[in-house]
Amino acid sequence: MSVKLLGLKIDDFSFEDAVQKALELLKEDKVSQVVTINPEMFSQAKKDSGFKKIVEEAEMVVPDGVGVKLALKLKGQNVRRIAGIDFAKRLLEESSKNGISVGIVGAKEEVITKAVKELQASIEGLNIVYYHNGYFSDDNEIYNGLKETSPRLILVAMGSPRQEEFIYNAKQALNPALMVGIGGSLDVWSGTVKRAPEIYQKLGLEWLYRTVSQPERFKRIFPTLPLFLIKALMYKE
Ligand code: UDP
Repeated sequence: MSVKLLGLKIDDFSFEDAVQKALELLKEDKVSQVVTINPEMFSQAKKDSGFKKIVEEAEMVVPDGVGVKLALKLKGQNVRRIAGIDFAKRLLEESSKNGISVGIVGAKEEVITKAVKELQASIEGLNIVYYHNGYFSDDNEIYNGLKETSPRLILVAMGSPRQEEFIYNAKQALNPALMVGIGGSLDVWSGTVKRAPEIYQKLGLEWLYRTVSQPERFKRIFPTLPLFLIKALMYKE
């Protein structure tokens, strides 16, 4: 099932169904894009029609932040939140079980190196065939590296909208794969950034923990959420 918010279609899946759907896409003969959408991405879509088109054409759009869930709730609709970081971790576990090769692009060099080490230590048999940090100017260089190694699952952690644009353009450039934008997940997996304690995660209050522990984030995110909710309520789908 899917719902609409501020003119964009969002898929409503249980966590398990989302994983299954992603694994089906992964087997298809094309590059598929998964967008884990949050309120900031809606404002980006509003001001940038190219970004809007990317979200519209994505094979899967899942609500990552609690803000999206809350906005839909205020409009009388329910959607199940899927934390992008948990979703991506689960896809890595499924990949290791099923002999699927993995590529990872994003974050600073020391962060991705550490994240790769941590993931390989915690997920037995994980086959990471390609990884690269997220600070490069020539996308083609990275596409070439990915083409040579052909990972079937590719996680991209470069923040939004950069990661969504990188994945979208890869649709023309790469061999079949499932590509997922995963924001700051590598920072967490590498141990560079601490994830909110479980109680915050359960209550959907990770944003609160993050804004309190990273004040510079507070300045960026605080005005966004109430504004986003007001806009969502006023929008006629
Ligand atoms: N990042 C990157 N390349 C860039 C900009 C950012 O690889 O050109 C990485 C950054 O190091 C971090 C991740 O993107 O690991 C997510 O950044 P941020 O937390 O700003 O994004 P958000 O999750 O808030 O979208």
